Formats: sequence, structure tokens, C-alpha cells
Amino acid sequence: MPGVTDAGSQPAIEGWWDTDESGAPHLIGAKCPQCGTYVFPPRANNCPSPACDSDVLEPVALSRRGTVWSYTENRYPPPAPYPASDPFEPFAIAAVQLEAEGLIVLGKVVEGTLAADLKVGMEMELTTMPLYTDADGVERTTYAWEIAK
Ligand SMILES: [Zn+2]
Repeated sequence: MPGVTDAGSQPAIEGWWDTDESGAPHLIGAKCPQCGTYVFPPRANNCPSPACDSDVLEPVALSRRGTVWSYTENRYPPPAPYPASDPFEPFAIAAVQLEAEGLIVLGKVVEGTLAADLKVGMEMELTTMPLYTDADGVERTTYAWEIAK
């Protein structure tokens, strides 16, 4: 990517989000050209609509904002092999509804925002955050939700 020289930071998963020219992240989903159904995470085939027989899905940028559909808080570290901070810090998870796409996307909520700070219907915005540092010392990032400014 032009302009990005920091090799010390890489996505934890390739192809689930990208950034525009201003650096704002957006998720990458896929859309069925036949019936308009969206999916996330992105995949290249197998439209999820039972009424549709399309076997092609096209990659598409998803809305950067959505509203809280549901949320919870993790108070215990996940079991191995899932990465957890040490010492473990509780974190919130939000299911955010993207209006235009009709999708609900589950994601971590940024550090410092817990379940008590969230409300159903609240507007959220996509961002990225460090998830863990791998064995090579590379910081792995993931997408996350933050309360929209
Ligand atoms: Zn379809």
C-alpha cells in the first residue's frame, strides 16, 4: 500500500477490511449481483438467499457506520488458541446493524468502551485496533467498533 511503511503492523486476517485514501477503514463484504444480498465475511460464491441460485458474489465496500443491534461484555479470557491480553482486560462486543446492506456485523468494541457505555440503537463507526503481537513481533490488527463521533 503506498505511503504505508510500517511493516510492524499487519491485519490479523487478510481481506476483511481496507482503508480509503483518508485512512478511514471499511469492511469488505460481498454482494450477489443477481438478488442484491450482502454477506460478511466476504466470499466468492454461494449466495445465502434460499430463493437465489447465483453462484457468484462480488467484493464490495460496506458502510462504515451502523447502529447497535445487541452487545455483550467478555469478562473472561478466551481459551487457547485465541489470543488474549495478559493481564486480561474485559472488553465489549457489539452486533452492529448496517442499514443499507441489511447485515449485522459482530465485532470487538475499542478499549475503554464497555457494555455500560453502549445502548441498542446507538450509532457506531468502524475503526481498527491492535489484537495481539505474533511470534515474529508483528502487531496484528483487527477491525473494531467505536461509538460514532
Ligand atoms: Zn443471490
